Amino acid sequence: MLAIGKHVHSAKCLGSALVRPLPSNLNSHQLYEHQHQHYRSARRGFQTTPPRHQHQHNPQRLPLRFWLQLVPEIARLILRSHFRPKPKPANYSAPLSLPSLDTKWQQKWEELRLTSRQRVGHVEHVEHVDDPQAQTSSAKKIYILPMFPYPSGDLHLGHLRVYTISDVLARFRRMQGHDVLHPIGWDAFGLPAENAAIERGIDPATWTKANIKRMKGQVQAMNGHWDWDREFATCDPAFYKHTQRLFLLLHERGLAYQAESLVNYDPVDKTVLANEQVDANGNSWRSGAKVEQRLLKQWFLKISEFRQELLDDLKHLAKDDAWPERVLLMQKNWIGKSQGARIKFPVIAYNQQAHSDIEVFTTRPDTVFGVQYIALASTHPIVQALANSDVELQAFLDTMPALPADSKVGYMLPHVRATNPLAYEQNTPDATKTSLPIYVAPYVLGDYGDGAVMGVPGHDVRDHAFWKHNRYDEPVRMVISPSPDGSTIAKENQPFVHHGHLTHHSGPYAGQTTAKATRKILAFLESKGLGSRAETWRLRDWLVSRQRYWGTPIPIIHCNNCGAVPVPVEQLPVELPVVDSHWAKSKAGNPLEEAHEWVNVPCPKCGGAAKRDTDTMDTFVDSSWYFMRFPDSENPIMPFSPAAADTSLPIDIYIGGVEHAILHLLYARFISKFIATTDLWPTGSMSLGEPFKKVLAQGMVHGKTYSDPDTGRFLKPGEVDLKEPLRPIVISSGKVPKITFEKMSKSKYNGVDPGTCMKKYGADATRAHILFQAPVSEVLEWDEEKISGVLRWLRRVHDHIDRWNAVWLNAEKYPIPNLLFLPQNFKFNPKLYLLRSFEMYGQIMQVTGPDASKSFRHIHSGKLPPGDTFQQEVARGSLQEIAKIVMAEDKKLWREVQKTIVAVNESYSSTYSLNTVVSDLMSLTNTIIDNSNMTIKRGSLQQTLRDQCVPLLSLELNHEATIALVKMMAPIAPAFAEECWSILNPPPTMWDKLFGPRVPGGSQSEQKPQSIFDQPFPESDNTYEMLAPEKQLCSVQVDGRLRCVVELPVPPQELNGGELEKWMVEELLQTEEVKAKLMGSRKGSIDIRKAKRVIVARAGKTVSFVM
Ligand SMILES: [Zn+2]
Repeated sequence: MLAIGKHVHSAKCLGSALVRPLPSNLNSHQLYEHQHQHYRSARRGFQTTPPRHQHQHNPQRLPLRFWLQLVPEIARLILRSHFRPKPKPANYSAPLSLPSLDTKWQQKWEELRLTSRQRVGHVEHVEHVDDPQAQTSSAKKIYILPMFPYPSGDLHLGHLRVYTISDVLARFRRMQGHDVLHPIGWDAFGLPAENAAIERGIDPATWTKANIKRMKGQVQAMNGHWDWDREFATCDPAFYKHTQRLFLLLHERGLAYQAESLVNYDPVDKTVLANEQVDANGNSWRSGAKVEQRLLKQWFLKISEFRQELLDDLKHLAKDDAWPERVLLMQKNWIGKSQGARIKFPVIAYNQQAHSDIEVFTTRPDTVFGVQYIALASTHPIVQALANSDVELQAFLDTMPALPADSKVGYMLPHVRATNPLAYEQNTPDATKTSLPIYVAPYVLGDYGDGAVMGVPGHDVRDHAFWKHNRYDEPVRMVISPSPDGSTIAKENQPFVHHGHLTHHSGPYAGQTTAKATRKILAFLESKGLGSRAETWRLRDWLVSRQRYWGTPIPIIHCNNCGAVPVPVEQLPVELPVVDSHWAKSKAGNPLEEAHEWVNVPCPKCGGAAKRDTDTMDTFVDSSWYFMRFPDSENPIMPFSPAAADTSLPIDIYIGGVEHAILHLLYARFISKFIATTDLWPTGSMSLGEPFKKVLAQGMVHGKTYSDPDTGRFLKPGEVDLKEPLRPIVISSGKVPKITFEKMSKSKYNGVDPGTCMKKYGADATRAHILFQAPVSEVLEWDEEKISGVLRWLRRVHDHIDRWNAVWLNAEKYPIPNLLFLPQNFKFNPKLYLLRSFEMYGQIMQVTGPDASKSFRHIHSGKLPPGDTFQQEVARGSLQEIAKIVMAEDKKLWREVQKTIVAVNESYSSTYSLNTVVSDLMSLTNTIIDNSNMTIKRGSLQQTLRDQCVPLLSLELNHEATIALVKMMAPIAPAFAEECWSILNPPPTMWDKLFGPRVPGGSQSEQKPQSIFDQPFPESDNTYEMLAPEKQLCSVQVDGRLRCVVELPVPPQELNGGELEKWMVEELLQTEEVKAKLMGSRKGSIDIRKAKRVIVARAGKTVSFVM
């Protein structure tokens, strides 16, 4: 503020160049010409010479005569009825068609992309020689990525939501001047393509490519700005070549290995599934078939090698809420580290067969006195050994795969018992000394702990259920109690699973807490060699081999002499063979096994006959590294160059559905951490090898679902009468259907095709609606009718610009008062304008009464149309009133603009609260339109300022506010904003292009940018505080009687209800009058702080207290 004030404050400046008093003998036309010339050049800002009067002078007091001399200028500022703007022929007022804007601007963007590629292409080519990623740009790089789509063929609303969020953030960062990487590709391998191939008899590649083409068109329709030059599909050999390279790198390190494993086998899809692909009921995630357990040789990636880092570094990801809390929690649970003990239970065999001790892992050694049985997995060595001689046991094992995962059945092994390791201690109660039955039970997993569980029915839910099922008549022993003396026993027939105090069943440990007893019991067992401290992990190694065709072939050749030999790197990729006849016959199973020419190859090591591995990789392998490929997507030799990784990784913002919170994100973290230990990503360890700085998990999209109120049956679209959208009717019964929002599915007839929606309303309205309806991370209830709110908003913005454009464009033709604040190369600057206005306003307020009106009459005598009431009103002294209103409106407008700029910047860059961006911009739109429609209401005078006398610069301020609004809208509604921008800033004409702008001193380089996305995003000019609301008079009533009138600040607009009341009371209590009269200072006098009710009326101009 001071800096600006320096050169304008000085009297000498005011008197010479800046104020330039006008020759007094000019008539209005001469005046017009004189000022027009000055303003035109000033407004366009074409003059490049710096202001001549930058030197400082001592401020001097100005004589009143000087200010009186200014009054004509002021008057002209405010009074423009004389030069009423004549609207330009309406070039732009064609009705707004949002869908046609999409077509128009998509075309223009494509042209711009091609020209910029031509321009940049050459440079990139040169740079590629020594460093493919060297960038001349100094702008900060930002990498924003949505999870890439599976090309199912149809874009659904969930896709549209995630790509909208990502595109909005990317466009915002670009406008901020960042160098943004925002690519997209296709997660193109996987079962659906193979199933479709079997069904239709076509190559999965054909099906996939057709789907990609279709979906790409749908993605392009959404007005996104994508780096299409970097697009790839994981099924391209040029991509999976590098997936194979990464597999070999893992293999070299011993992190990819083959092992016999009991695997989940899906008998319908005929493939092995990862544990994560089997749901809680033991069914396949995809086919829904009951999963069987089979022992097969499989490929694993050793994620367990990284489990400690994967767990520890979650803390790093939790900082500043970088990752959603629930995602971190799910990962933590999935990794599942538990501390506990390994305890040995000696085995007694009654048939002389010797068995080694059974080792169990437990997290609760304090419950060891409560062990009532031992349960073993089917794979436990004792079970396997006994099955050879026990026919019944073998029969039971054969039925096990068919049992549900929560089955409570068990087979008690005959002739063997286990003993509690504490059984031989003197102080141990008799109950614990008894030997324990040993069961084989399906609920014990072969790979958890050691495939053995100590059964504690009193203190474990599953053990309790198992005991009740198999030994229903035997009591459950409770060894832990909630209270120290054991008086409170947990509910009958329920296990007590919490920590507590040991009961009398625990002999010498009775009365101790869980923590203390755990330590003591462990120490004792350790001293006897019967137990030790241990930890266990839930996370298993990652089973990556699939017995399917449509995936990345595992680059291994099996030789009888040399074993598993990696395919030499120079022979990569191992391409999938074409197996058309397989699809033609609609055969299931793995076609690679029958592709003999492909399978039979010489061993790379010894040259002898060998066979290719016929497994392909889980598609999660492709998606665990694809994001590292985008920065260097055309590198033919390496997955990506180390330089590319160093510049672009980790990803700044990764956006996707929370359903990927565990698997995809965990695998990506693992592979990324591994890559950070190789030469591929030299600086990877600096970010702990973590691939994603920020994860935004977006909520699901639920569809409006109609169901029959009586039966609950979901209704098809044809069964509901929607002629009146707000009053739907079930056609068959005439009843009102039940409306809910549910996950979109074919069976609920609630799916929505985003393509149809975009065609109908335009992509921009669809995007804005998606963002507006719910916070990013919450469920979006898609209700198409509600889009009308967004449509209305866009129309209002467009109408405002359209209607005012003529005025703004013509503004140059009208005289501009040559006031204090116009340096020679003047370009409208809101802050400068407002600062000068304050000064002006102060001066106007001092020029009162007859002086002002005399001056007015003097200037306008004989030049005004007779009978102009407005002029007469002004002449009667209403200048001050008008100036006051204009100032107040200007302040209100610019304050709202500043507030919105700060809020929107924060939402776009740190809180990602994109729904509030839309609502903030909607509210700013109202303020801008209200401002342009402001009216004077004073006595008989009711003139709209719009038509009569909007001071030109106040109008400029509205123009600037509108520009800020449109820029802030641009990331959300790109085509719409481009259109508005082109109206606000018509591109240079052909004449301008050929000869330069027709203004002296103008230059070609000053041409206005064609795209709004080349514009900087609005930033605060720090005027918000300065524009504090005005003061106003407030009448204070107590029990209906007026007590006093005090001056208070105008309450902030955002306050209402209780907040407003509180604010008003606080302000009142600070005024001297209220302090003296209404705060009970004298005995028996009123104290408004004790009022029962407070009523604020007339926007804070009246406050009533009810005592
Ligand atoms: Zn060999």
